[in-house]
Amino acid sequence: MDDRINGKTIILGLMANPIGHTVSPQLHNTLSAMLGIDAVYIPFKVEKDSLGDAVKGLKACNLLGFNATIPFKEELLKYVDECTEEVRLMGSANTVKNTCGRLYAYNTDADGFIRSYKEETGGGFEGREVVMLGAGGTARSLAVRIASKGAAKLYLANRTLEKAQEIANTINATAGGIIEPLSLSDAKIKGIIENCDIIVNTTSLGMYPHIEECPLGDDIRFNHKQIVYDVIYNPAKTRLLKLAESCGCKTVNGLGMLFYQGILAYEIWMDMKIPDNVISQLSKEFSNNFGK
Ligand code: NAP
Repeated sequence: MDDRINGKTIILGLMANPIGHTVSPQLHNTLSAMLGIDAVYIPFKVEKDSLGDAVKGLKACNLLGFNATIPFKEELLKYVDECTEEVRLMGSANTVKNTCGRLYAYNTDADGFIRSYKEETGGGFEGREVVMLGAGGTARSLAVRIASKGAAKLYLANRTLEKAQEIANTINATAGGIIEPLSLSDAKIKGIIENCDIIVNTTSLGMYPHIEECPLGDDIRFNHKQIVYDVIYNPAKTRLLKLAESCGCKTVNGLGMLFYQGILAYEIWMDMKIPDNVISQLSKEFSNNFGK
């Protein structure tokens, strides 16, 4: 008899739409196998107007926890019982834990980004001047975390200026006023980018299959001391990262962020710290399989 799943198996899952491309089941199920934990992680394709019903259903079925991704991260906050002020400020959650029938929401994207950044560059954000391209859901959560990590200045440059302004207005009160909204087409952006320490792309420009797109023009000049992080991981080198690499910058893609948001979610569900040796072995397997 196949007894991989039995009456005691812990059930975890992911709500998304589309869901065909997800690598989260492979990540979490491999992790459970490595740790010898009797758990299974299942993908759920949820219709766009059915999130409330889906959350209620997973709660009624006593799942220990679940992830949510595009297009549900913002709307999810409407259906959980508890979240921190910081998660409210971030405006989105990607992880939920069911504790004694109450749903607690977390955002592990932002901490996954910080952990990946630290691991791949050896540095942090304290005292740094940062330019973030984009002002969508990911930008908002990363802006909250980058500000809380002590950045000296955070420019938010977006195609739609109003969205960057709205994020700055919401977050600046708790972020010491360090956020300055900008339009991506503002002429002064070139000079600001040339002189900052870190550039983070959170726009979807350059993501497969539109790999020729880039949030910045080809005339942009980086300097070799800069770090350029693109949250996109497919392709592994976006046009933006290729441009930055040609100027001698350290470049990082979003695969590590994807990996660590999953690791952190698993630690929340299981209330444990995953041993470093497990993380490093899994990280290698993850990059070998999904680092296109
Ligand atoms: P979102 O909320 O829809 O935001 C999209 C952003 O891209 C907005 O700033 C939008 O600008 C900008 N944009 C889209 N098309 C554009 C265009 N043609 N020209 C200029 N700007 C454009 O999306 P999101 O959830 O934040 O996700 C953004 C990216 O992050 C996606 O590629 C996603 O896959 C990636 N991501 C990666 C990870 C990871 O683990 N590595 C995690 C989360 C997200 P406007 O405001 O002007 O529309």
